[in-house]
Amino acid sequence: MTVYQYDVCSFLMLVLMLMSIVLRKLYNGSVHRTFMIFVILLLGNTVCDMLSAAPLTAFSPGVRNALREGGTFVYFILHASIAPLFTIFIGLSAGTFYKFIGQHRYTKLLFSLPYAINIALVLSNPWTHAVFRIVDGEYQRGEYVIVTYIVGFFYAIHTFFYLKRFRGVLDRTSIAALLSIYPYAFAAVIIQYFFPRHLLEMFAYSIAVMTILIFVIRPEKMLNLAVGSKTMAAFWGDMKNIFLSERKYNIYVIKVISDSSVIQLYGINMHDVIMRELVSRINSRVRTLVPKGVSCDTYYLNYGLIAVSIDSRYASKDAAAQIFEVVSEKIHTDNFDMSLECVVCDIAIPADLPSFESVISFVDTFEKSNISAGSFVYGELTQQEKIKMSFDIDRYIRKAINNKSFQMYYQPIYSVKDNKFVTAEALIRLNDDEVGFISPADFIPAAEKSGAIYEIGEFVIDSVFGFIEKTRPYGVEYIEINISAMQCMNDSFVDEIKQKLLDFGVSNKSVNFELTESASSILEDVLKRTVSLLHAEGIEFSIDDYGTGYSNLHRIMSQPIKIIKIDRSLICELSDDKTRAVLADTIRMIKSIGIEIVAEGVETQETAQWLIDKGCDFIQGYYYAKPMPEDEYLAFLEKTS
Ligand code: C2E
Ligand code: CA
Ligand code: CA
Repeated sequence: MTVYQYDVCSFLMLVLMLMSIVLRKLYNGSVHRTFMIFVILLLGNTVCDMLSAAPLTAFSPGVRNALREGGTFVYFILHASIAPLFTIFIGLSAGTFYKFIGQHRYTKLLFSLPYAINIALVLSNPWTHAVFRIVDGEYQRGEYVIVTYIVGFFYAIHTFFYLKRFRGVLDRTSIAALLSIYPYAFAAVIIQYFFPRHLLEMFAYSIAVMTILIFVIRPEKMLNLAVGSKTMAAFWGDMKNIFLSERKYNIYVIKVISDSSVIQLYGINMHDVIMRELVSRINSRVRTLVPKGVSCDTYYLNYGLIAVSIDSRYASKDAAAQIFEVVSEKIHTDNFDMSLECVVCDIAIPADLPSFESVISFVDTFEKSNISAGSFVYGELTQQEKIKMSFDIDRYIRKAINNKSFQMYYQPIYSVKDNKFVTAEALIRLNDDEVGFISPADFIPAAEKSGAIYEIGEFVIDSVFGFIEKTRPYGVEYIEINISAMQCMNDSFVDEIKQKLLDFGVSNKSVNFELTESASSILEDVLKRTVSLLHAEGIEFSIDDYGTGYSNLHRIMSQPIKIIKIDRSLICELSDDKTRAVLADTIRMIKSIGIEIVAEGVETQETAQWLIDKGCDFIQGYYYAKPMPEDEYLAFLEKTS
């Protein structure tokens, strides 16, 4: 008596999985579609397996024989497809299948030959009985049934080859889940070989498929349901695949320039609604540009950053302009109409960007660059001098780090109470031998993104700590050092600073760390910890650029802050009566909570006098002194102290 109940379990499992695939719409894209076909194939196979083994006592012996004969025949036909289809599925998951198949004229033939042999063997079975025969309604193995398993083994070897060669593409969990099919299948086949009555093979496959469905097919990672597109993770996965398979694609990167204002004005929910609208417009326009059936994907990369990929063979020249057009059209909502400004860039891969890394770096620079609205091809965009600079900035930073060509400048700060310059702000300078002066306002944000800020930060600390001693004779009390929020987030920052104070023999009183106001509001919790730890070590803090963000004195008060630096932009507008009134109030408020005030960017005597009259403690600006190199600063101190 054959034990076919494993097939019943397998059947139920596969039906459930198929339902889940259909209900969750997991059939878009070649990988998912292949997986669905695989599940259907196994389902058919399981049904046939049952037909070949179930008692079927309800039928007359003649019908039973015919059902067994037919069921087993179809079983072997379908069974022959399992291994090659699974290999194709893995190849597609790893994005290497196209590359492999396109490698050589004979590759396709070589790949399908074992399959063809297997099928031919099964088709000839009614005459040869090479694979099986049904005797008295009972299944019996044929002499050559082993061939089907050898063929399966051939495809398994193939899969190993894929996964080994292209390891980097799939994460470990996925690889483990995908490979789990082999031990399952192997164990089942062995058991079934020695105990032919136990039909375990289909059950083993079902468990493997379930493992894959749980661990590999993760739509939530790939689909952004809020805006109805693929996710950034999907984008980078697909990019890797494109490079590995050496296919040609055109990528359109779309940046909504006014995106952060949209979030601020309308909130994140409305922002999602707007992005959803943009994505759907882009989708429907792009569909009209490519032939039916050609896949083109839309990805939501980041706030206000969308990408579209189209196979280069079908990418029309004006696609970027068309995308630009639909994105720029007015958006109607229940409450308002609005237009969005955007930039679209058309990149040919691999012609414009030859590697995965270069795409990362481009997207990053594109996102933070301030290119004005329009649609461009890659070449046009990168030729604009200013932008070219921003695309290369990481290179200049790296160069400056390697050649140790950064320099520290010092801008004296006037103390009203002492009537002299008892402090200064350390400002970093980068002079490149090719392109000349690069502003820290440009390269610091770039360095924060690339991570180079840690090395730059260390340079700043070393060089300021090493210099402080020389300013002592002139009565300089402390030097203000700009600290990036990124540095503060680094867990070892506090210990590093403690160590450096010891190494350089610098007193904690002779430095003051400046943190920008925006940083302190975004990263409140992380910063608070670092700030309080360093404060416990005796280091004081200033809030930089006060008045540029959403100034919140209440929040600032909750931190151990000694000084507030009022931003240059507020000082510049002093000619206007209203600004004066607001500024006078601000100064009074800050003073009332016992925090000292530095006014930044003071360029005229009138402004300086006005600020002094209102009670500012320190004045910093070109009116008194510009930032200058160490020796000039020492000479300046000599002259003024
Ligand atoms: P910040 O911290 O607000 O620095 C003040 C900026 O205003 C400096 O620009 C300074 O040269 C400029 N400035 C000072 N007085 C006047 C004035 O009267 N008029 C005008 N128009 N400008 C004045 P700089 O040196 O270009 O630095 C720009 C920004 O780069 C800094 O803004 C700071 O955020 C960042 N930065 C500079 N050095 C460092 C550093 O060592 N580390 C870090 N993390 N950031 C730095
Ligand atoms: Ca500063
Ligand atoms: Ca500032």
